[in-house]
Amino acid sequence: MNRVGLLRWYRSRREAYPWRIRPEPYRVLVSEVMLQQTQASRVVPAYLRFLRRFPTLAALARARRGEVIREWRGLGYNRRAVALSEAARAIVRDHGGRVPSDPEDLVRLPGIGPYTAAAVASLAYGKGVPAVDANVRRIAARAELGAEPHAVSPRRIQEVAAAWLDRRDPAAWNQALMDLGREVCRPLPRCSLCPLRGGCRFVDRRRSPESPPPRQQPFPGSFRQVRGRVVELLRERPSTLGSLSTAAGEPIERVAKAVAALHAEGLVQAGPGAIRGRARGRVLLAE
Ligand code: SF4
Repeated sequence: MNRVGLLRWYRSRREAYPWRIRPEPYRVLVSEVMLQQTQASRVVPAYLRFLRRFPTLAALARARRGEVIREWRGLGYNRRAVALSEAARAIVRDHGGRVPSDPEDLVRLPGIGPYTAAAVASLAYGKGVPAVDANVRRIAARAELGAEPHAVSPRRIQEVAAAWLDRRDPAAWNQALMDLGREVCRPLPRCSLCPLRGGCRFVDRRRSPESPPPRQQPFPGSFRQVRGRVVELLRERPSTLGSLSTAAGEPIERVAKAVAALHAEGLVQAGPGAIRGRARGRVLLAE
C-alpha cells in the first residue's frame, strides 16, 4: 500500500468540497447523510442551501419535519430528511445538543449506519476508525487481496481497511479512499491514474473486472420516481390525490400507493381517503 502516494494525491483535493473546509460535527453529519445516496456534485448546492436554512443542529432540531423535507430538494431519497430531522432531535434530547463522537452512540441515531457513524467520528473528531462503504470495500478488496469485493468476505475487507488506516490523520485517510473509490477505482477501474497502482494486487495479477456492476432499477418510470414526484409537488403546496395524479401524469392507484408508503415512512400526512385512493383525499408534507 503506497500510503504516501495516496495522501499526496489527496493533498490537492483536501478542500475540494465545502464540508471539508469547516469539518464541524454538525456540518459533517449533514454532509455524510446527504452523500449516502447522492453524488457529491449534486450534494454541494443542496448542502450550502440547507446550512443557510438550518445553520446549527439546534435550528434543525426545532424545525418542522415538512420544512426539512422541503429543503431536501434536489437530493432524492427523501426518507433521509426525516431521519436527519429525528437524529437532530435525538441529539438535543439525549446528548445535550452535541453530536456524539463515539461510533457506537452515532449508530443508534436514526438514519446512521456503521459507515456514516465511522465517517462522522473520524472526519469530525479524528477518531481512528475506518469508514468502509462500497467504494472503500472495492479498493481494499482489489488493492490488497487482488479480487473483486463480492469474492471476499465483508469481515476480511473490514480487517484490511482497519490495518490500512493511517491513525495519524484518519480523516484525511478516509476521505482520500472515498475520493479514490468515487473517481479512480470505480467499478471499471482507471488504473493508469491511480496512486496505488505500484502495489496493487489486482493490477499485479492482471485481473480485469470479473463482472459488470449490478444494475440499479432505472429511475425513470420507477416507483421511486413516482414517490419523488409526489414529494416534489407537495413541497410547493398541500394537494389532493387527484391533483397529484394529474400533475404527476400517473394513474391515481399508483399515486395512492406512493402516498401510502410515504405516509407510513413519516414523509407525508395523508387522510384516510387519500390512502384508499379517493381523488379528493388530502395530502401534505409531514409536520
Ligand atoms: S490500481 Fe486499479 S484496481 Fe488497483 S486500486 Fe488503483 S484503480 Fe483500483
